[in-house]
Amino acid sequence: MKFGTKVIHAGVKPDPSTGAIMTPIFQTSTYVQSAPGKHHGFEYARTQNPTRNVLEENLAALENGKYGICFASGLAAMDAVVKLYKSGDEIICTNDLYGGSYRLLTKVYSNFGVKSKFVDMYNAKGFEAQISKNTKLIWIETPTNPMLNIVDIKAICKIAKAHKIKVIVDNTFASPYLQNPLDLGADMVLHSCTKYLGGHSDVVMGAVVTKSKSLADKLHFIQNSTGAVPGPQDCFLMLRGIKTLHLRVDRACANAKKIADFLKGHKKVSKVYYPGFKDHPNHKIAKKQMNNFGGMVSFDLTNNNFGTAKKILKSTKLFALAESLGGVESLIGHPASMTHGSIPKEERLKVGLTDSLIRLSVGVEDVNDLIADLEKALSKA
Ligand SMILES: *Cc1c(COP(=O)(O)O)cnc(C)c1O
Repeated sequence: MKFGTKVIHAGVKPDPSTGAIMTPIFQTSTYVQSAPGKHHGFEYARTQNPTRNVLEENLAALENGKYGICFASGLAAMDAVVKLYKSGDEIICTNDLYGGSYRLLTKVYSNFGVKSKFVDMYNAKGFEAQISKNTKLIWIETPTNPMLNIVDIKAICKIAKAHKIKVIVDNTFASPYLQNPLDLGADMVLHSCTKYLGGHSDVVMGAVVTKSKSLADKLHFIQNSTGAVPGPQDCFLMLRGIKTLHLRVDRACANAKKIADFLKGHKKVSKVYYPGFKDHPNHKIAKKQMNNFGGMVSFDLTNNNFGTAKKILKSTKLFALAESLGGVESLIGHPASMTHGSIPKEERLKVGLTDSLIRLSVGVEDVNDLIADLEKALSKA
């Protein structure tokens, strides 16, 4: 099955009892057994839910994996992955990690002895020296948020394999339509399904996909033991959103390209971060491992001024000022004060995340309206 067919059909079958073409919302906490231990494979809804099962199968197919395991949020999915490890183990992460992921590792798991290290992975060659005997997992995020750096997944996986270290890729920004890390050698893929997969800014959810039965068994055990599961209504909405993933992402990519070009030519803009530009430092890798360059664009201002950035953020009409990304509607955000507020300023500046950096999640609206909206906001500021 090709991707555009999988989003609609993988794991999805008409309901056997009624023929309903859409997966029903099994809003139940338990299942009746005909005799003790005699049931239809469903005992209790933390452990199994038919709506969730369909979604998990669908997600596994989209990432060319075998097992999908869903969680109540992207961070709950990350939390489950970190629980595969123990005190003394070390996780090496991409240095401009999603703010919430950084917080989970540095503020929660550091108290439990799980160590984390944030390193520059943009040059795979220098990376190997960072590995220690305690390194158990490599956490890649690519493209990164909000700097849109690109990590060479294949190159890092090759180094990790040589040291028998597992690799997970947070594939939220690309979505499974643009990038499939398991095909490039990763052991696990993580999604904040809240973003492109759901696509309509109406669900919070996370997922991990893997080909490995032993990792899936452990993650299912953690999913059931710690209980951060998504509800059936949310699973239904996620399945519904996924059906148009390819159409939405195609349009978002096309719009983002035009917006990046527009911003690049604007005198108030000093720098545009967009992996689709030929002069992006890792453009070649992006081209190799992604099917397109995504719907995210960040830019910095010529005067480097937070006040000017604030004015722009307040004056767009179509670009709504909000956290999150990947929905059909365009959003504008200020990483330094919003999504990345929990990262210390020195750490932020090291990766170029200045106080005047603005991030766009480009939606699927008419691109001329979007450009006019930005044009107006920039001219006012
Ligand atoms: C949003 C996000 C997360 C966290 O997901 P939630 O669903 O908000 O918990 C993790 N990684 C990336 C890249 C994200 O954008």
